[in-house]
Amino acid sequence: MKRITFLKSLALLPAAGAVMKLSSLYNWSQSHPSGEKMPVMFMGHGSPMNAIEENEFVRGFREMGEAVPTPSAVLCISAHWETRGTYVTAMENPPTIHDFGGFPKALFDVQYPAPGSPELAKETQSTVHKTQVGLDDKWGLDHGAWSVIKHLYPKADVPVIQLSLDYTKDAPYHYDLAKELAVLRSKGVLIIGSGNMVHNLGMVAWDRLNETGFGYQWAIEASEQMKAQINSGDHAPLINFRAQGRAFDLSIPTPEHYLPLLYILALQDKDEMPVYYNDKAVGGSLTMTSVKMVKV
Ligand code: ZN
Repeated sequence: MKRITFLKSLALLPAAGAVMKLSSLYNWSQSHPSGEKMPVMFMGHGSPMNAIEENEFVRGFREMGEAVPTPSAVLCISAHWETRGTYVTAMENPPTIHDFGGFPKALFDVQYPAPGSPELAKETQSTVHKTQVGLDDKWGLDHGAWSVIKHLYPKADVPVIQLSLDYTKDAPYHYDLAKELAVLRSKGVLIIGSGNMVHNLGMVAWDRLNETGFGYQWAIEASEQMKAQINSGDHAPLINFRAQGRAFDLSIPTPEHYLPLLYILALQDKDEMPVYYNDKAVGGSLTMTSVKMVKV
C-alpha cells in the first residue's frame, strides 16, 4: 500500500491511539513484508578518518553494505554513546555529532543526514523489559555510527537510531539486554554494534599507523583468542572478559569499544556462523576486525 493511501485510511480511524499503533505497523510490517531476519554485525570503526578516506577498511564496509538486504532501519550500538541508564535516539532528524578533536576540517564538515525513526525508538522501548529505555532528543549520530554507516548507505536514505551503553552496568547485563532486541531483526532492522575488539588508544604506535596489519603481540593474541571463542559459539569467556588474562586486559582497558561486540554475539542465532572482514590490526594496539553473523 502506498504511504499516501495508507495515511488516508488512517484518517478514517476514530482514536488517536489506534492511529499511532497502525502508524508503527506501517513502518515495520509494510516496509519489511517478508519477515525475513536481517543479519547482525559488529563493525570495527577505528579512526574517524575512515569516514572520508578511501582505504581497504572502507571498501570492506562498502562491500558489506552491498551484501546485506536493504533494511527498513538501522539500530546502532556505538562505543561513543555512554549514559547512566539506557536511551534510544527518538528525534525525526538526528544531528551529525563530531565527537572528536584534532582532525582536519574536512571531517568536521561531514554531515550524514539520515532520518531518525521515532517509531522504531518507541518500538525498541517497548521491546526491552530489562530496563526502562528512555527516549532521547539530545544526542544524534556520533562518529561511531555515521563514520561507518555512511559507507553502507551513502545516500543517507535508511533511518538510523542509536541505543546507548549504560556505563553503570556489567557485561552480562549488556549481553542479556541485547537478547531482547532479537525480535527487531524480523522487522527489517539491521542491528550494528560499532566499536573495536582490541582498542588501547594509550598504546597506539602513532609512527606506524600507516603500516596496516601491525599489531603488538598481545593485541594479536587477544584478537585470535576472541575469534576462536566466537567461532566456538561459547560466549561465556567473552562475557567474562576480565578473567581472560593480560592480553585481554591490555586490549580492553575500558569496555566501551568492546561491549558492542557482546550485543552482536547475544543476537547470534544457533544456526548462524561468524564471517569476518577487515580482520587486521592497525597502530599496534587496535584491530579493525568486523564480523557479520550469517545463516549456515
Ligand atoms: Zn571509537
